[in-house]
Amino acid sequence: MASCGVLQMMDWEVCVICGDGGGILKCPADSKQKNGADIYRNFLESFKGFQDCKSLPVPVQFSGEQSPEEFMAHKAKWHKSCHLKFAPSKLKIILGKKRNLESGQSEGGPRKSKRMSMGMAKQESFMFCTKITGTLHACATMTLDNDLRLMATELQDAELLAVVTL
Ligand SMILES: [Zn+2]
Repeated sequence: MASCGVLQMMDWEVCVICGDGGGILKCPADSKQKNGADIYRNFLESFKGFQDCKSLPVPVQFSGEQSPEEFMAHKAKWHKSCHLKFAPSKLKIILGKKRNLESGQSEGGPRKSKRMSMGMAKQESFMFCTKITGTLHACATMTLDNDLRLMATELQDAELLAVVTL
């Protein structure tokens, strides 16, 4: 258990989140109205969500291996402000941003929309496939046009020439 230093050194008399014993510490286990174990469970679930997307709002003093029951047994305490940093609503915002970022990347970014706006996109890709497979994918459209015209002229390809001189 030598590697579990955090677990052994855990000081339950200070804020489990920031490790500071100053200020007003709240202890859900002492709460009369609410079920302390539920509060700890919600907090730990939220914490794991932050941890999963590597977006912990602040470094914490516990390992994340503890169960809500363990928190309950030790009467884990925290500052209200520290606890609020792990609010499920904040996790939702982070997850939402992450999802937007991922879906944005998978759509191919601005390059795709630029090609779409060229109007020639369909014709070009058709020509790539049938006439000059795979050679011009990375070409800029201006030079691509010239190259194609040159090639069509050299090949005396009337069909292709008709398309590129449009
Ligand atoms: Zn704190």
